[in-house]
Amino acid sequence: MKADLHCHSHFSDGSLSPTDLVALAHQAGITDLALTDHDTLDGLPEAQIAADELGITLITGIELSCTWEKQLIHVVGLNVDRHNEVLKAGVEQNKQRRYDRAEAMFEDFEQHDIFLRDTVTSLIRERGVPTRPHFAQALVDLGYAKDKKQAFKRYLVKGKPGYIPMLWPDVEQIGAWIGAAGGIGVLAHPNRYKLTRTKLSRLISDMLKAGIEGIEVSTSTTDKQQSAMLADLAKQFGLFASVGSDFHSKDQPWARLGGAASLSKELKPVWSGF
Ligand code: AMP
Ligand code: MN
Ligand code: MN
Ligand code: MN
Repeated sequence: MKADLHCHSHFSDGSLSPTDLVALAHQAGITDLALTDHDTLDGLPEAQIAADELGITLITGIELSCTWEKQLIHVVGLNVDRHNEVLKAGVEQNKQRRYDRAEAMFEDFEQHDIFLRDTVTSLIRERGVPTRPHFAQALVDLGYAKDKKQAFKRYLVKGKPGYIPMLWPDVEQIGAWIGAAGGIGVLAHPNRYKLTRTKLSRLISDMLKAGIEGIEVSTSTTDKQQSAMLADLAKQFGLFASVGSDFHSKDQPWARLGGAASLSKELKPVWSGF
């Protein structure tokens, strides 16, 4: 078994269609794949058809935006029932927040004489939810930045044009949506929040109270030392451990599909709870 339980398609900020993503997973030898687009379930039906054709196990997933102690946190919901009404209503809320934020971002950029609406809209087409990486790509396409990294440095972040502060649902709400849909919640890329171990432990305690019982121990950007620390926390709190590359596109070689190391044997893998 080779699992990758965190990746994106063009239904959010990934570059591939779900069909192409599943084909790439098959090539990479992945047997169990979760598609986890930001705040949308819309790519899952197409991914399921492709997975059935290639004999891959598709785990229904989503990456939900969440605010914890004023900070943006991502929680991946795995093995969720995508038809569950509570989850669907929650996802609609987050989607609407994304549309509203995009509108506010267009207006903020326009204050700086930067007009992104047409480019962003054509990048997203009808299918996807607007994300900051779409804005970053538009800034590159229109010559405001040489690459997306630079776009995120000059724009889109706190204190820069195009930054709109967001209040996402809290951990309790996210936990309730995932729980109602019979899924398991997993803290995404814990190393990216730059939290001390003490603060990370507090986040985990709050997550557990909300029924979110998993943590990504192996990701594309966790080094050996971080993975060991996360494995330690998983054991300490009795959490399910997950593995996810956070793949977005082929031009990000630091996050290859299937590129996250497999979990060590003493951990409780999240799929044991599916
Ligand atoms: P959003 O959820 O729309 O606010 O966008 C968040 C996404 O933007 C993350 O999942 C990353 O993929 C990407 N992102 C955030 N910060 C940066 C950054 N500094 N450089 C490149 N990508 C970033
Ligand atoms: Mn992303
Ligand atoms: Mn994320
Ligand atoms: Mn992600």
